[in-house]
Amino acid sequence: MLFACAFIGLHAAVLLVFRSQATLVTYPFLLLCPTLVIAACIWRIKRVERKSRSAWILLALGMFLWLCGMMLSAWEDLFEHLPTSVAWFSDVCFFLFDVPLLLAVSSVSAEQPVPFFVWMDGLQALLTGYLTYITIFSVVPFSGAALEPVPISVLLLTYKAENVILVVASTLRLLAQPRGRERRFYAILCAFLWIYGVMAWIYNDLAVTTDDHTLIDLMVDVAFLFLAGAVIFPASPRHQVAEASQKTRLAIFIENVSPIFYTVALLALSMSVMRQHFYAGTIGVFTALVVYGIRMTTLQGRHLRVQQQLHEAHDRLEAIALTDGLTNAANRRCFDQTLVAEWNRAVRNQQPLALLLVDIDYFKQLNDRYGHPAGDKCLVSIAAALQSTLPRGGDLLARYGGEEFAALLPTTDEAGAQVVANRMQDAIRALNIRNETQTGTFVTVSIGIAIFESSHAEAADIVEAADQALYRAKERGRNRIESIAQRDHLRERLC
Ligand code: GH3
Ligand code: MG
Ligand code: MG
Repeated sequence: MLFACAFIGLHAAVLLVFRSQATLVTYPFLLLCPTLVIAACIWRIKRVERKSRSAWILLALGMFLWLCGMMLSAWEDLFEHLPTSVAWFSDVCFFLFDVPLLLAVSSVSAEQPVPFFVWMDGLQALLTGYLTYITIFSVVPFSGAALEPVPISVLLLTYKAENVILVVASTLRLLAQPRGRERRFYAILCAFLWIYGVMAWIYNDLAVTTDDHTLIDLMVDVAFLFLAGAVIFPASPRHQVAEASQKTRLAIFIENVSPIFYTVALLALSMSVMRQHFYAGTIGVFTALVVYGIRMTTLQGRHLRVQQQLHEAHDRLEAIALTDGLTNAANRRCFDQTLVAEWNRAVRNQQPLALLLVDIDYFKQLNDRYGHPAGDKCLVSIAAALQSTLPRGGDLLARYGGEEFAALLPTTDEAGAQVVANRMQDAIRALNIRNETQTGTFVTVSIGIAIFESSHAEAADIVEAADQALYRAKERGRNRIESIAQRDHLRERLC
C-alpha cells in the first residue's frame, strides 16, 4: 500500500515537474506497472500447485501483451510521431491483452484439467490474433497490401465492448466459483477488471480529447498496482483450504456456460471480419464452433464417466454397508432389512417364513484355548459352511452377532427348516475344528428354529421365538436343534 502510494505520488510529481515533457516521462511508469504485475505473477506461479498455475500464467501473459502494447505505443509516440487518430500496432497488443484473460475466465475448473484444451485454446488465441490484425488494419497479415487502420474512435468503442464482456464474464465466473484457492484467482481478476474497465473507459474518453497526461496516466497506475499487490498478498486461511462446499444451481449453470464466453467473443470477431474477408471470417466461425463442440463433447464424456464411477462407488459402499467384514456374510443391518421385507411378503402371500438362529457351542473356550485369531478363522469357516447349505437364491445367511448366525428361509415350513438345520450341523461337523468341550472334541452348533405362518404378529416376534428355541437347545445340552412354530410361541406367551 505504502509502495503504491509512493509510486503514484512519484509519478504525479514527475508529471507536474516535467509538464512539457509529460509524454516522455510518463512512459517509464506506464511500463513499470505491468512489469510489476508480471513479476508478482511469476512469484505466485512458483508458490501455487501445478494444477492452479495455468490461470496465473494466462494473467502474466495478458500483462505481457499489455506491456508490449505500451512499448509499441512509446515507440510510435516518441520515435515515429504517429497521429493518435488511427489505430496502430500497439493497438493490436492492447486488443490481444484481453485474450489470455478471457481464456482464464472460460477455462474449466483446475480441479479437472484437460491437457488437450490447452492446445485448442492456443489455436483459438492464434486465430484471434490473426483476426484482430485484420480488424485493425483491414488487410491480411504479410499480404503486402497497404495497411488501412481503423479510426481510433471505432477502436475505442471496441475496447469498451471488450472490457464490458470481460467484466461480465469474470463476475459470472466469480459467482460460480466455490470457496477455495481457485476462487481467490477469480476474485483478484474480477476486481482488477472492474477497476481497469472503469478506468480504461474514462482514460480512453479523456485521451482522445486531451494530450495532457498529467492526471489520466495515474489511473493506469491504480489498476495495475492494485493487481500486483493483490497477487502478492498472502491468501487468507479461508482461501488456503479448497473447501468442497455445495455449489448452487446457479453456480453449476455458470460454470458449465463459462466455456462459451470465449466462443462468443471469437464468433463476434470472426463475423465482423467476415464482411470484408469472407474466408478468414468463415475459418474463425468454423474454429470457434468446432472447438466449442469438442470441448462440450469431452466434458460431457467426462461427466458420464464420473457419473458411472459414482454409481459403482455407491454400489460398492452399499455392499460394504450390508456385509460383515470378517465372515463376508450379510451383516445385522442387512438381516434386519431383509427380515422386514420377507415378513411382509410372507404375510401378503400367506406363505410360511422360517428363521434359524445358529450359535456356536462353547466358543469362548475355543477362543481361550487357541486364541482369538483361531476363533476368527473358525467363524469364517463356519460362515462358509452354513452358506453352502443354502443353495436357494431367496435364502439369506447373516452374522447376527458375535458367534451367532441367522438364516432366513422364505416359503419354508417346519419340515423344510429341520432339513436345513440338520444339513447345517452336518456341514459344521465335517469341518472338524477342534474344541474340546462337554459336547465332544470338535466344534458344534445349537440351532433354534421359528416358523411363522399367516401371522398377525410382528416381524420382531419371529426373532424372539427363534431366540427362545435356541435358548431351549442350549439348556437341553447344546449341539441340538429346537423349534417353535407360531402356535407354540403364542401359547408360551399366554402362559
Ligand atoms: P454357549 O455355548 O453358551 O453359546 O457359550 P459360548 O462360549 O459360545 O458363548 P458366550 O456368549 O459365553 O461367548 C461367546 C464368545 O464369542 C465370547 C466372545 O469373545 C466370542 N466372540 C464374539 N465375536 C467374536 C469374533 O468376532 N471373533 C472371535 N474370535 N470371538 C468372538
Ligand atoms: Mg455360543
Ligand atoms: Mg452366543
